[in-house]
Amino acid sequence: MEQSIENYIKTLVRDVIGQTLGGLEIQSDRQTYVIANWKMNKNLNETAEFFQNINSSTDVSVVICPPAHLLYPSHLFSKQSGKSIELGGQNVHWADKGAYTGELSASMLKDVGCEYVIIGHSERRQYSFEDDELINKKVQQAFKSGLTPIICIGETLGQKNAMQTEQVLSKQLFGALKDIDSSQFILAYEPVWAIGTGQSATAELAQETHAYIRSVLKQILGQRAECISILYGGSANEKNASEYSAMPDIDGVLVGGASLNANSFDAIINVFAKGEQNS
Ligand code: PEP
Repeated sequence: MEQSIENYIKTLVRDVIGQTLGGLEIQSDRQTYVIANWKMNKNLNETAEFFQNINSSTDVSVVICPPAHLLYPSHLFSKQSGKSIELGGQNVHWADKGAYTGELSASMLKDVGCEYVIIGHSERRQYSFEDDELINKKVQQAFKSGLTPIICIGETLGQKNAMQTEQVLSKQLFGALKDIDSSQFILAYEPVWAIGTGQSATAELAQETHAYIRSVLKQILGQRAECISILYGGSANEKNASEYSAMPDIDGVLVGGASLNANSFDAIINVFAKGEQNS
């Protein structure tokens, strides 16, 4: 929680400085994140065990995004453990409240201890038909409630093979960030072909794509784009983490499968913590 307030203040200062200095270069000091997306996995016992076994580093921000029924227990387990682990939702509704059966609002997420929320994950784009317009409404709602959105973008295999990656990412970015003038978000580049397949993007390809994403963010936010943490996601694990952490535009990872095991997830956190100490 404290770390999140610190990050919030840092980003706010950069936001203000960015607006004041206009086109001038801002020295970037981006926050590193290691974020777990548990998707529809784990029960209460497994969650308690996970929080007992996980260590966390103060050099990187660690965020766990469990399924909705485990949010409040996770909040309690995290507090009990005294480790600096923050929480995020996996989805949020665009409305404040009302007759939306089965949905969770941003203020409900805040209520159970969340500081973050994943928005626009490819599985929600695919199975729940979420488009850029809806994703933009959810991002606006997250800002309104003081949640930090973790905005996911990424191309499918077909789009990659058709050489449409840049076009797809640019459209998703402009769509998600329409009418938004804040740099208080995290971006996750998650090539759809790499998610859950074991076919992770090479660190070089991820770096090249992150640099492209930052160039598009510059068109939208100006120099404040230098302050946005861009995470890689897609079969990241303890074996390939060090390659990603060595890249200048990769500011952490969003981890699915490898985040379910506390030891594997810890190993990934440690790789990025070491990277922070060496930088
Ligand atoms: C994800 O779904 O966000 C993800 C990165 O999954 P995995 O690590 O399992 O590819």
